[in-house]
Amino acid sequence: MKHIILGLCAVAVAVSLCDTVAFAAEGKHRVVVWSECTAPANVYPNDINGAVADALKTLKGWEVITANLEQPDQGISDELLKSTDVLVWWGHKKHAKVNDDLVKRIVKRVKEDGMGFVSLHSAHYAKPFKAVLLEIAKPGDEEMQKRVGSWGAYKCDSAVKIMAKDADHPICKGVEKCFDLGDTERYGEKFIVPEPEAVPFECEYRFPDGHMEKARQALCWTVGKGKVFYFQTGHETCKHYYDANVKQILRNGVEWVAPNK
Ligand SMILES: [Zn+2]
Repeated sequence: MKHIILGLCAVAVAVSLCDTVAFAAEGKHRVVVWSECTAPANVYPNDINGAVADALKTLKGWEVITANLEQPDQGISDELLKSTDVLVWWGHKKHAKVNDDLVKRIVKRVKEDGMGFVSLHSAHYAKPFKAVLLEIAKPGDEEMQKRVGSWGAYKCDSAVKIMAKDADHPICKGVEKCFDLGDTERYGEKFIVPEPEAVPFECEYRFPDGHMEKARQALCWTVGKGKVFYFQTGHETCKHYYDANVKQILRNGVEWVAPNK
């Protein structure tokens, strides 16, 4: 039975955790899209997880579930996590509220069981993303240990053009090689993360005075048995998760990190 969750995420369609587990579809991959219910309702009335789940619903052979911080077990019960093939994470203001035990369970699922993990935008500083990347950090790299996930700048001062950097990568499939998204929040290099195995997309920021600056936009890693994908676009006051190219990148990213079944 489906329930409508009251509260901040009142309009977000959610399914109670017990019921979602019971509804696990035979033979299908399951993706859980998590967010923290802090996106402005005039831009994302169903929060970020609702918009991302909407982009993923056309994936064939996938069951798409939303989860959020305010739910029991912070949206990710052990039972749900164990049946999740890909976890997509968007967080910003409430990183510190995420339980360390949940973070440990997520890292274990990625590293030991091959669950895919997708981190979006401000989740560059989310506990599970940082913890999963530290699993592959070089020993003795003090800057990485202290500042993993940090970008060099965070400013709403430019417009962004996304460009394929590795056009043959599966994450670029069906996406225009170059597209504009307009005004954005600029995350500037350097991005303190372990060396990625692929960078399917980079971007060019254009400032009002005409000068340009590049940054990595989409990065891929393998951590133990699992794959990890970070996509930088997705500030909560920009409507970028409704863009057709961004939606295709989200679908491709989920499929790329998915474990083989
Ligand atoms: Zn942002």
